[in-house]
This record gives sequence, C-alpha cells and structure tokens, in this order.
Amino acid sequence: MAEAYDPNNIFAKILRGEIPCHKVFEDADTLSFMDIMPQGDGHTLVLPKAPSRNLLDAQPEVLASVIGTVQRIAKGVKAAFDADGVFVQQFNEAPAGQTVFHLHFHVIPRFAGVPLKGHTGQMADHAVLADHAAKIRAALGIG
Ligand code: 5GP
Repeated sequence: MAEAYDPNNIFAKILRGEIPCHKVFEDADTLSFMDIMPQGDGHTLVLPKAPSRNLLDAQPEVLASVIGTVQRIAKGVKAAFDADGVFVQQFNEAPAGQTVFHLHFHVIPRFAGVPLKGHTGQMADHAVLADHAAKIRAALGIG
C-alpha cells in the first residue's frame, strides 16, 4: 500500500509559510520557488498547493493545473538565463530519487556543453538565489 502524505514535510511547511523560500511565482493552485541545492543556475521547483506525495497519488485536475505553471516557469527560466534548453524532472518515491514527499517538478535551464551538478548537492548562497528568483520574475513580467 502507498505511504500516506506527511503534512510536516518541508514543502508543506513552505506552503504554510512556516519556512522561507525564494519565491518565483504563486497562483491559487500552485507555488514556484528556487531549489536550495540547485543542479544549475536557475533551478526552480513547481508545486501544486494540494497535498499529494507525488505523481502517483495526485488528482488529475491538480496535475492539469500544475503542468500549466511548469510550462510558464520553463519559459521564464529559459528567457531569464538565455538558456539553450530546459530540463524538467520529477521523482516518485525514494528508490526513484524522491527526497521530499510533496509533489514537485524540477525546472532547470540547460546550456550546451554544461553538465548538471548532482541532485541534492551543495546549498546555494541565499543572495544568489534571491537574485535568480528576481531575474525569473522579471522575465515572467511579474518582477
Ligand atoms: P526530490 O529529490 O524530492 O525530487 O527533490 C527535492 C528538492 O528539494 C531537492 O532538489 C532539494 O535540493 C530541494 N530542497 C530540499 N529542502 C529544501 C528547502 O528547504 N528549500 C528549498 N527551496 N528546496 C529544498
């Protein structure tokens, strides 16, 4: 049987405003903020506000709205960083690489010939993350 959603996971705390984040975008159903251990400059996360562990237990209507925000952020990071492409990744359960158990999508600008850093590697400088969030917001026209 699938494990239950834990309302005390770190992203649930960010959604409740109990832990800060470098916010990029928010609407009624979704939230987007900078990944604290980016695999590359501009690594952004997109979450539905509705609780689910991952893709496997999410409601289809939640997936429909979150993918719209994923597309918006993908366009925003590509423009903000003048990237050559955008990588979107999403893990389901620990053996697949998931470490935080609230559904989220990674949106990462990619540059020709530049490899990504490791998943959940080094913590980024907060000033850099704040600057990158501002750059993406400006590219989205919400700066
Ligand atoms: P997962 O492995 O579950 O797909 O990825 C979780 C992501 O969340 C990782 O890339 C990790 O760097 C990021 N992360 C973990 N804790 C925090 C946090 O407290 N704040 C932010 N902004 N990102 C986090």
